[in-house]
Amino acid sequence: MRKPIIAGNWKMNKTLSEAKSFVEEVKNVVPSNEAVDTVVCSPAPFLGQLVEAAKGTNVAIGAQNMHFEENGAFTGEVSPVALEDLGVQYVILGHSERREMFNETNDSVNKKTLAAFKHNLTPIVCCGETLEEREAGKTKDLVADQIQKAFAGLTDEQAKQAVIAYEPIWAIGTGKSSTAQDADEVCGHIRKIVAESFNADVAAAVRIQYGGSVKPENIKEYLAEENIDGALVGGASLQPASFLGLLEAI
Ligand code: PGA
Repeated sequence: MRKPIIAGNWKMNKTLSEAKSFVEEVKNVVPSNEAVDTVVCSPAPFLGQLVEAAKGTNVAIGAQNMHFEENGAFTGEVSPVALEDLGVQYVILGHSERREMFNETNDSVNKKTLAAFKHNLTPIVCCGETLEEREAGKTKDLVADQIQKAFAGLTDEQAKQAVIAYEPIWAIGTGKSSTAQDADEVCGHIRKIVAESFNADVAAAVRIQYGGSVKPENIKEYLAEENIDGALVGGASLQPASFLGLLEAI
């Protein structure tokens, strides 16, 4: 009953012309959006032109980060107001690269999640553990804490619409993906935490993606799991052929 959602996270890759030709190539081939929600999260400078290029198709455009303030003296930042105005529909929040390298905290992710809903953006809220944390048996407590804090203050309706991406940090860009069973166990735990924080209806509706070295060859294993509703994909989302390969697995 939950619609799968596949989101590409290009990170800091591509030029404008590469980004546009990607969208031109995939936009008429992606499956109907009744079958799957398809999202391309691009670097900020290309967002407006990609929204235009994807108009009227089943490809939605997402940002990779934003500030939680609506405007002001925040040199170099992008506001939720600007993203909404451009027609951007999704925004990745709290990606582990931002937590590790750009001081993103659970508190800022929470403020950004609230700001996203205020501006009609669907947040893709990321959580996940380091290898050290996994080996110390802390995974479930850590992701529970990240999601409880990120979702603080959301209404039930907002929590239902949010997307969660469970991305074990040791699996990102390493080729070492989590087994589908391990990923499902953590995603099931996240769902349980959402049920406790909100209610069973919200937990049944919220979509949880797995991310970390997902590719066309392994995506089916994840999607076959009960608690995994899609994928957040870095490396394998960069080329049209592999991006379409991911979607074909739905
Ligand atoms: P990857 O990245 O698919 O290249 O592992 C995933 C992500 O960081 O979202």
